[in-house]
This record gives sequence, structure tokens and C-alpha cells, in this order.
Amino acid sequence: MEYGKKAKTTKEAHAKINLGLDIIGRRDDGYHLLRMVMQEIELHDTLVFEAIPLSEVTLYSPCTFIPLDGRNLVYKAIELIRDRYGIQDGVKVSITKKIPVAAGLAGGSADAAAAVEAMDEMFGLSISDDVKLQIGQELGADVPFCMTGGTALAEGIGEKLTGLPSIPDCRILLVKPRCSISTKEAYQAIDKVNIVSHPDIDGIVAELRENDLYGVCGRFGNVLELVSTVKHPEIENIKKKMLEFGAINAMMSGSGPTVFGVFDNDNAVRKAYEAFKAGEYSKTVYLTAPVGR
Ligand code: ATP
Repeated sequence: MEYGKKAKTTKEAHAKINLGLDIIGRRDDGYHLLRMVMQEIELHDTLVFEAIPLSEVTLYSPCTFIPLDGRNLVYKAIELIRDRYGIQDGVKVSITKKIPVAAGLAGGSADAAAAVEAMDEMFGLSISDDVKLQIGQELGADVPFCMTGGTALAEGIGEKLTGLPSIPDCRILLVKPRCSISTKEAYQAIDKVNIVSHPDIDGIVAELRENDLYGVCGRFGNVLELVSTVKHPEIENIKKKMLEFGAINAMMSGSGPTVFGVFDNDNAVRKAYEAFKAGEYSKTVYLTAPVGR
């Protein structure tokens, strides 16, 4: 076995939240044209990759909510790179999921981004950043952002990234209601809706540049809430509860159903965390923070 730098590597794959999500059109191929403000958060999966002298890809995970075959984005990422770079050896991956699945937090995309990075490192491929982003785009619209992380304006179908200053220091409470929402179905449903009011994405970008936490939170907006909250009214209830507990603002992330609340008061967020943990809405509750780059 002749590997590049190392035969084994461990990666953290971080989740994201959307501070803003707008749909501004559709491409001829059906993909939605988006304007999103993405924020990386500390919540992460942990993946251990190991190159093996057998021509096969094997995934292990105690998580029963994800497929461990060719449908897994990690598997797809590894196969794409093995194919493109003519790699004979196989890879063994252990995936410890902490990011809730199908929750609007880009868990699968983050894992895929980690897989590309790990393959580059293990097999000494020296893939340029631009090529990595192209590979990411082939794997999924959120993957390029997961590769760069931090805070960014994502345009096009999610692949055109402009780096931004991170949201100012705050605590982020995540509550995922028991329901799951398929990203595909959420976008299909929004196509039947006439979007009359669009989130102020440029306003969010401006407030981030001003480093104004209240300004950023005051402009949160996600057009996908229009469809997801109708189907799952608990999303609105969780948002309301978060505000009652002192969140500066609360919103659904991505296509949902996870709701995030932004707090600047440690006591308030701790109380909210305990109450949601003990309450009726969900047992999937995390206290986390933004990752700045
Ligand atoms: P996004 O915010 O990018 O729309 P999401 O957070 O809503 O994504 P994911 O957690 O990425 O959703 O999962 C979406 C689907 O992808 C799930 O149905 C899951 O079975 C599948 N999937 C494939 N690979 C993975 C992975 N490594 N981790 C999580 N889900 C995966």
C-alpha cells in the first residue's frame, strides 16, 4: 500500500443553519435558484476513515437512520474520487452521527465534504480548492458550503459562495420536532406557492458586516417555512416557546424541521434547553454555538 500522507484520518463534519433562505427562480433543469446565508455551527458528526488494501467501500455506523450503502453521501463521495483518480484501494469509514438526520442541518452534506477531504489527505491527491468545490457541487448543493464552512452567502443552486463575517458571539439552541421533512418534498411544495414576501438577504449580509447580532436576528427569513409550518404546526409552537424563553429570534433551518433560537444570555438559553429537554416537543435538543473562520 502506497498512501499519500496517512492511511487513517479522523474528521469532524459540522452542521449548518440558515440565517436566511430565499428562492429567486428556477433553472431550466428544475433546480431552484437560491440566496442563502449559511452559518457553520459547532454541532458535528465524527468520521474515521481508513484506507484498506481491498477494493471496496464499507461504512459502519450505530445510527439506524442512515443508509450504509451506495445511497450514503459518504459512499458516493468516496466512489466518485476513487473513480476519478483511479484509486484501487478501498476505504473503511466509521460514522458517529450527532447531527439529526433529514433535519435541515446539512448533516449528509457535511459528511460528504469530510469524505472528500479525507480521500485527498489519505491518498495524497493534492486536489485544488476549486476542484474540491466542483466535486462538492456534483455531490449536492450544500456540499460546497460544508467544504468552506464559516459564514457565507450561497447563491446559484448553493454553489456560488461569498465569505462573510461570522454571526456575532451567541448561543444557539436547536430543537428538532419529531417529524422529518424531505428536502425534495419541501421544494416541490413551495413551487405551488406564490411567494409574495421575500426575506431580506442583503439586509442580513449588511448586518453581519456591521457585526450587529440584534440586526442579523431581526432580519431572519426562510421562505420554506411557508410550506413546512402549514404541514407541521409544531414548528411555529417551538419558535414561539423559544421567544418566550428569551431568544432574540428563532427560525426553521433549511427545509426543516429543526428550529434554531439565537440567545445572548447564558442563563436564558440554559433554562430553555432544560425545558425543551423535559417537554413535549422533542428529545432532540442541542445547545451549540457558531463557528467563526
Ligand atoms: P439539507 O439541510 O442539506 O437539506 P438535511 O439536513 O435536511 O439536509 P440530511 O441529514 O443530510 O438532511 O439527510 C437527508 C437524507 O440523506 C436522509 O434521508 C438520509 O437518509 C440521506 N443520507 C445519506 N447519507 C447521509 C449521511 N452521511 N448522513 C445523513 N444522512 C444521509
